[in-house]
Amino acid sequence: MTGILYLVATPIGNLDDMTFRAIKILQEVDVIAAEDTRHTRKLLTHFEIHTPLIRYDEFVDANKILQLLREGKNVACVSDAGMPAISDPGADLVKLAVAENIAVCPVPGANAALSALICSGLDTSNFTFAGFLPKSTKNRRERLNDLATHAETLIFYEAPHRIKKILAEMAEVFGNRPACIARELTKIHEEFIRAGLAELADKIGEPRGEFVIVVEGSKLEAENLPAENFLDVYQNLIAAGVDKKSAIREVAQKFNLSRREIYNAVVDLEKGSFEDGQDG
Ligand code: SAM
Repeated sequence: MTGILYLVATPIGNLDDMTFRAIKILQEVDVIAAEDTRHTRKLLTHFEIHTPLIRYDEFVDANKILQLLREGKNVACVSDAGMPAISDPGADLVKLAVAENIAVCPVPGANAALSALICSGLDTSNFTFAGFLPKSTKNRRERLNDLATHAETLIFYEAPHRIKKILAEMAEVFGNRPACIARELTKIHEEFIRAGLAELADKIGEPRGEFVIVVEGSKLEAENLPAENFLDVYQNLIAAGVDKKSAIREVAQKFNLSRREIYNAVVDLEKGSFEDGQDG
């Protein structure tokens, strides 16, 4: 009999968010595999849990944990805060465990993305969790461009030292969409700042603490904007001899959309006409 791999959520700030079940499972398992053993030891001391701790992060061979599970040991995986495997170690371990038919069991609890989303005031029915944006400017631009036409609410994690820069980039690519910054969730200085993307950077002041950025989805699909309308306007401008860049700028202004959204739609349009031409 193999053991069970438990994925145990831990608080993202407020220790009272630890669940009864999380404490029980952490007490009962044979081993706790933690992202940072020193960090987790403080949590365990607080809840008087004395289970042996081992380190598990991207530098530790997952086989070490799998071997324990193969031997029938129950293992709880925890990260520094929130849900393991969500922008945190754990996902690879789960994949490997599933491949070996080892049982995986969630012990749900705090999570920064969902906590931010439910308080954002933005649409919660459909959303995309985008996690951390790439570090390189070029890759980040590409990712933002890809997300520019997504109709779902977008959720991002971000480090304090980059937040102002990222907000400026988002405003450039997405336009001045409604957004919400959730800062220091569940902690004493918890704060929600709601404004257009272009104003948010100024509103956050000194970027201290932890942040989640929630951004309204593109209205292009969400409200089913008559795509023909703005593309018709674009095509009329092109037919009238206006250059592509100016036509995109003018249409973006007229329909209150970002230039990137118009650009992507134009690329699709051109691709469509090309493919139609190929078929014919
Ligand atoms: N696994 C965690 C979860 O389930 O939310 C996320 C870990 S990820 C490495 C850390 C990022 O989550 C931070 O950079 C920040 O964007 C977000 N975060 C974590 N705790 C937060 C908090 N208390 N308030 C706001 N954002 C938080």
